[in-house]
Amino acid sequence: MIGCAIARELTRYRLDVVLVESEVEVGFGTSKSNSGIIHGGHHTEPGTLKGELAWAGNQRWVRLAQELGFGFRRNGDLTVAFDEADVEVLEKIAQQGRDRDIPGVEIWGPDKIRLEEPNLNQDIIAAVDGPTAGVVNPYEACFALVECAVANGLGLRVGAPVTAIEAGGDGLLVHAGGEPIETQFVINAAGVHAEKVARMVGLLEPTIRGRKGEEYLLDKRLASIVQRTIFPCPTPTSKGILVIPTFDGTIMVGPTAQAVEDLEDVATTAVGAATTFDLARRLVPGISERDCIAEFAGVRAVAGNNDFVVGPTSVPGFFNAAGIQSPGLTAAPAIAEMLVHMLGEAGLDLLPRPEFKRTMPRPVHAASISVGELTEMAERDRRFARVVCRCELVTEAEIHDAIDRGARTLDGLKFRTRAGMGRCQGGFCTSRCMQLLAAESGAAMSDITKRGDGSWLVLDRNQLGTAEVPT
Ligand SMILES: Cc1cc2nc3c(=O)[nH]c(=O)nc-3n(C[C@H](O)[C@H](O)[C@H](O)COP(=O)(O)OP(=O)(O)OC[C@H]3O[C@@H](n4cnc5c(N)ncnc54)[C@H](O)[C@@H]3O)c2cc1C
Repeated sequence: MIGCAIARELTRYRLDVVLVESEVEVGFGTSKSNSGIIHGGHHTEPGTLKGELAWAGNQRWVRLAQELGFGFRRNGDLTVAFDEADVEVLEKIAQQGRDRDIPGVEIWGPDKIRLEEPNLNQDIIAAVDGPTAGVVNPYEACFALVECAVANGLGLRVGAPVTAIEAGGDGLLVHAGGEPIETQFVINAAGVHAEKVARMVGLLEPTIRGRKGEEYLLDKRLASIVQRTIFPCPTPTSKGILVIPTFDGTIMVGPTAQAVEDLEDVATTAVGAATTFDLARRLVPGISERDCIAEFAGVRAVAGNNDFVVGPTSVPGFFNAAGIQSPGLTAAPAIAEMLVHMLGEAGLDLLPRPEFKRTMPRPVHAASISVGELTEMAERDRRFARVVCRCELVTEAEIHDAIDRGARTLDGLKFRTRAGMGRCQGGFCTSRCMQLLAAESGAAMSDITKRGDGSWLVLDRNQLGTAEVPT
């Protein structure tokens, strides 16, 4: 997300910009595995870069979503109290909001809470209302930012892990497969691997530790159980388990917070599930694990100072956008603007490009248009009449459009169109999506992967016995 936001921001200027991504598609790191909340800005503690940039970032999402056509809704949040000790914490949170001039932050009593969110635990005695909070489709946002940047001249190299960076002399030389990239500036936005990339130029900071968060997605049956994102009263170390109405109308519960050594550890666990559902049920008693249709985990990149690390380093031309833990999604647009400003201060010539295209066509989602509109579209293009994903009503035309816009994997299709995200979790549409991907790219079915890197789904009969089967 951070790299994508910076890339788009830089393409406003007459510059040669390259985004180098080790995965086969952008957004496949932590940015695809989060809660999708655009935080209201009142939760983050003062005196931190996180706190400063969360509210600044929040205010940029409405315009971004309008320009780029991804899903965003300002649904607000409620942080709830069960006893007087919690109420004291809530007052502090509300004051943080007032200190930042965040509009509408106020404390509600039980009557107002019951009226607005009748399915919350009846033992809740007070809540902070944060109307500025929202929810976004984080992967859609990543794709849209990059598609816009590419339309404005970004050089995008995917499947290209940075393996070495030569510093010294007049600039930096980045090795990422293919031709090395000679550049004046490098921005290290490598998520949980930012420490590794910083080491490539000899820096000992930042250090990055992993903190895993498990999330559980519930069936649409529970769609309107809450309107706002529900936060428990936070503790000094954790925001706690939340109940989140996602942009797409499902309810998500999570995330856990567990320190992990392995920065790639995205396994969900029985303990994580039990903790999540127990705590979510304390907020909203109607929630049950029987409604769970999918689960995933992501790893937060936590820097040694427990704050964002954004800015220049002792290596000339080498900048960090590291340690971008939560609320990094919220802050992303503000981080991007901050970095571009810093690059300007460091001598980058920021000459605006008047031909910068700020908007992108909004992709059609059959599920969100009327039957009349869909019928009209199907008369013009029969692919709109062929449904690929029944649960989420995704048509063949949308799958083709996603492939045209850069989807190369099943996850790439899923995150752009929602095919495979519904109740049956791809049981019905996976093979059709694979066929369409194979036909469009001229690849064999056995070359189609879930998310690249050997995650293929079927073996060619001729390869049986010779291919290495992933464990
Ligand atoms: C469970 C969970 C819930 C969260 N919920 C929220 C939320 O609701 N709201 C919010 O604001 N924030 C949330 N966050 C935080 C948010 O997800 C992150 O702050 C954000 O995604 C960080 O983006 P990033 O670009 O720094 O990292 P990433 O998305 O991981 O991007 C880094 C990219 O660098 C690439 N890369 C790494 N090494 C190399 C290399 N050597 N060469 C080339 N490429 C490389 C990776 O493949 C990856 O694509 C949550 C985080 C988690 C884990």
